[in-house]
Amino acid sequence: MIVLKFGGTSVGSAEVIQNAITIAWSQADHAPVVVCSAMAKTTDTLVRLAQAALDGREDQVRRELDLLSTLHLDALAGLTSGETRSTGQDLIQNLLDELSSLARGLLLIQEVSPRSKDALLSFGERLSTTLIWLACVERGISAELLDSREFIKTDEKFTEASILPQATQEAITARVKPRNNHLIICQGFIASTMSGVTTTLGRGGSDYSATIIGAALQAQEVQIWTDVTGIMTTDPRLIASAKTISEISYEEAAELSFFGAKVIHPSTIQPAVEKEIPVLVKNTNAPEQPGTRICRTVKNRGIQAITGKNGITVVTVQSSRMLNAHGFLKAIFSVFEKHRISVDLVSTSEVSVSMTVNRFEPSLEQVIQELQSFSRVNVEPDHGIVSLVGTDLWKEASFTARVFAALRDIPVRMISLGSSDINLSVVVPQENLEQAITLLHQELFPQGEKG
Ligand code: ADP
Ligand code: ASP
Ligand code: MG
Repeated sequence: MIVLKFGGTSVGSAEVIQNAITIAWSQADHAPVVVCSAMAKTTDTLVRLAQAALDGREDQVRRELDLLSTLHLDALAGLTSGETRSTGQDLIQNLLDELSSLARGLLLIQEVSPRSKDALLSFGERLSTTLIWLACVERGISAELLDSREFIKTDEKFTEASILPQATQEAITARVKPRNNHLIICQGFIASTMSGVTTTLGRGGSDYSATIIGAALQAQEVQIWTDVTGIMTTDPRLIASAKTISEISYEEAAELSFFGAKVIHPSTIQPAVEKEIPVLVKNTNAPEQPGTRICRTVKNRGIQAITGKNGITVVTVQSSRMLNAHGFLKAIFSVFEKHRISVDLVSTSEVSVSMTVNRFEPSLEQVIQELQSFSRVNVEPDHGIVSLVGTDLWKEASFTARVFAALRDIPVRMISLGSSDINLSVVVPQENLEQAITLLHQELFPQGEKG
């Protein structure tokens, strides 16, 4: 069997939904399971809706509901006719009514817990997959619609839930039965707790849903269909001359997504690695293009791609007690561990340790207070990390020289190379992030060529 995942822009209108179905149906002899995101912009609209309900802004709640209603009913009209349209109208309207009741309830109490937010966000994928299933029915394609919440099982960490592997594996094998000449359609991103309460896997999580299902069913391949021709040397929205990478290893792809390449969700690779399932990233608007293949071993050596992420805070801990002292690092990291904050990059000197954390970590304030009880702490917000990802980066003697020559006019705050041979990361002020990526891309991929 194979899994095909279609992202928001690939199901963003009646026209592109038809393309997506054509792509999936052309592989009907591989027992396809189709995992879909919400229509483009829908999840953002639902997030705005949640905020408006929380703030008690009734007008805005109504506007966002109207927007979602128009988007989905227009798409329905473009995809169906006759009896399928009237069945579809009932199904879509029921979902819209349920969404509207929930939104009004939240507005009334002006409270949106993470749990209610997940319930709200789940409507995006539930609406889009209902439309896609109806479009298949209209085209006479054998298709069934499943609710992923029945078989993607998670803990109760609402908005960023973690998978329960055993329960998920068992539920998928019991509920999802792929076969040739038949499309199984289900939602990415949404899941549920053991007691059936709706959860989500974090923004962009549909890619992760696809590999979870693929791994559970021992897929031959998982295909991620999106709006770019694969994983590229950098974000093409930033540098138009970025080139598509034909092959990349699991480790490189995981590193790129973790350090900001939005093209796949950071957890996507993990289920695929365990079962050694190749993941293909392809363009729904140009299906003839080969895209990128993510697999265990690749021929390419050296730099593959550059990525960046903003919103980084550098925390520096200094203490004269660190000099020749044992256990100082342990003391620092146990504070971060206690508050469940993950540290991305670390660099140490004899008397200080610098670490990067995500600005949005809610308990960072408490961490800083606790660190201050035994050391001097300096906090520098508004930084970004630029990561260069490839294999055996340090084996080419001139590599680091070229990197730092390219960055000569940029104040580099921290450097990390060596902990893995696949990532050289530098921390720069947020306002220099794009410039740093541009300069590095010019140097390492001249004329847009892959190095
Ligand atoms: P989808 O809705 O299909 O999941 P996303 O918007 O989540 O799509 O991801 C695709 C986007 O990722 C692209 O439009 C592109 O701007 C961005 N992107 C960031 N880094 C890269 C990269 N290295 N290669 C390709 N795309 C990238
Ligand atoms: N619809 C969700 C989001 O926009 C999940 C996804 O698209 O992968 O975050
Ligand atoms: Mg995505």
